[in-house]
Amino acid sequence: MKQNNKPNNPMSGNPIVIFAIFTIIVILAFKLLSPSGGSLLNSGTTQTISYYELKKLIENKEVEQVAIGQTMIKAQGTQNGQKIIYNVRKVNDNTLVPLLDAKEIPYSGFSESNWFTDMLGWLVPVFIILGLWMFMASRMQKNMGNGIFGMGNAKKLVNAEKPKVRFDDMAGNKEAKEEVVEIVDFLKHPDRYATIGAKIPKGVLLVGPPGTGKTLLAKAVAGEANVPFFSMSGSSFIEMFVGLGASRVRDLFEMAKKEAPSIIFIDEIDAIGKSRAAGGMISGNDEREQTLNQLLAEMDGFSSDSSPVIVLAATNRPEVLDQALLRPGRFDRQVLVDKPDFNGRVEILKVHIKSVKLGRDVDLQEIARLTAGLAGADLANIINEAALLAGRANKQEVTQQDFREAVERSIAGLEKKSRRISPKEKKIVAYHESGHAVIAEMTEGASKVNKVSIIPRGMAALGYTLHTPEENRYLMQKHELIAEVDVLLSGRAAEDVFLGEISTGASNDLERATDIIKAMISYYGMTNVSGLMVLEKQRNSFLNGGMGSPREFSEKTAEEMDMFIKNTLDSRYEFVKQTLSDYKEAIEIMVKELFEKEVIEGSRVRDIIAEFETKNNIETRLVAREQIDDED
Ligand code: ADP
Ligand code: ZN
Repeated sequence: MKQNNKPNNPMSGNPIVIFAIFTIIVILAFKLLSPSGGSLLNSGTTQTISYYELKKLIENKEVEQVAIGQTMIKAQGTQNGQKIIYNVRKVNDNTLVPLLDAKEIPYSGFSESNWFTDMLGWLVPVFIILGLWMFMASRMQKNMGNGIFGMGNAKKLVNAEKPKVRFDDMAGNKEAKEEVVEIVDFLKHPDRYATIGAKIPKGVLLVGPPGTGKTLLAKAVAGEANVPFFSMSGSSFIEMFVGLGASRVRDLFEMAKKEAPSIIFIDEIDAIGKSRAAGGMISGNDEREQTLNQLLAEMDGFSSDSSPVIVLAATNRPEVLDQALLRPGRFDRQVLVDKPDFNGRVEILKVHIKSVKLGRDVDLQEIARLTAGLAGADLANIINEAALLAGRANKQEVTQQDFREAVERSIAGLEKKSRRISPKEKKIVAYHESGHAVIAEMTEGASKVNKVSIIPRGMAALGYTLHTPEENRYLMQKHELIAEVDVLLSGRAAEDVFLGEISTGASNDLERATDIIKAMISYYGMTNVSGLMVLEKQRNSFLNGGMGSPREFSEKTAEEMDMFIKNTLDSRYEFVKQTLSDYKEAIEIMVKELFEKEVIEGSRVRDIIAEFETKNNIETRLVAREQIDDED
């Protein structure tokens, strides 16, 4: 372990000593290797002549070679069969070069430096590079976190970080916490699980946008279980230590196993674990692949039964990860750590204001309302910023005005990185998602609504409506496909009906709706455009990607297909718009609640619709079971 650690710390030892030794070596080298003049034409006897004498020599072609410096000219000639160097003081005259050309005497420039300036020319870039290297090395140390990979200090390895963080330090994200509680219990009582024969996951992937508390959660797991926490960041060590990635991974696991039960945390695992297929042929791939392979080998190489080590990894791009990483026995569990909703933000603010002296007028609800779309880290920043503002103004406590200003500042600074949703967007998204939710609830064959949110999930642009399919669907009936189309169109339709203007937010919905109808024609033989004739070869999966294979049908069929798709979309759209207008009141209630809470549960959606129907004596609902064949 200790030997292994050495090459990882190339800068260990006193950097000043290294610089001093290095400098002396360079000076000596130059002193030995570099005679004064530092240029060609150095050997032989020298003689100083005037410029005009030199020109005469050139005219008579009595010199063989000329070197021109800034103030000096050197020429090489022969006298009595002996090589001689003429030193000439340069004068302001530009006939020399044409003359040399005419006489066909080779000439070149030289720089009149001595060994000292030459040496400086070498040393400066070397110092810059060394400095940069040290800078990066020190940054590495920071990234490695809390001295686990400290400057080759073996003692620090034993004192691996034992985080004091607890679950209570992480506000909101209840679901994510519930998912990892089990791991804490396992780390506390590994034998209990071993006796029963329960398999605890080795690897858990924490998925979510930056700053949502993935690292915090991982630390809290270690803190709650009171076990050491070993961490590293995928990106930093791949970039900084070429060739050492694999050995770093090995070290990490070795340390963790020695300290088991323990937690390993790999931040930004996508930097190592990017899909080999998707990664392309970019250079440096080799390095990453080696590191990835080492990681896979380590994950396979230990069994949690004997040494309870749990590997947590964080990413905001799970889709780019190599499938090998996600196989059973590796990171086969995913926990979503998402951006907080309104209540979540209030909770997070509460956690972070503990250390701040608050004025009486501070209203956390208002701050939470102003910060829709921001992550926990952004909120922590805002509180700190507000405290700084108050401090600068020499106030005794932080006021609401400080918070408002801090929100404005941080939002200006965040720009696109962590997008806040403006009230205007909130309104559009609220109608859009309510439309989806209502149509999904009312349409036979559509998946029921689990949750509606106007906070973007993961990397998505808008809010989301989470559906739970009633059962796993291997087969879909025709009316279910149409129901799906209706639900997809309903977001746009709601914008259209209630706001009178449509936005770009529906593009993905429209694409998917189009794909479904296309597949109904060309793949499932469900329409009279081509009857039972399949126009498409087998594709990877249902609605996966566009139409890959080339057309194997006539132009006329293609045209009919386009017409059919367009007409079907149009008529479904009209149907959905009509339904939404009929249920306007219900939608308005949902929008209002979404605006306030940002998230509403599926059960609440059903209640709102039921209340509305009772009030208006609606007994039978419109359903999507229509024969779309008849519509073309
Ligand atoms: P990630 O690893 O997801 O990028 P971090 O765990 O590094 O995010 O979060 C950065 C900081 O933001 C945390 O140290 C904490 O101060 C704050 N933070 C983020 N999410 C939360 C949360 N849910 N509750 C409390 N603080 C949070
Ligand atoms: Zn939508």
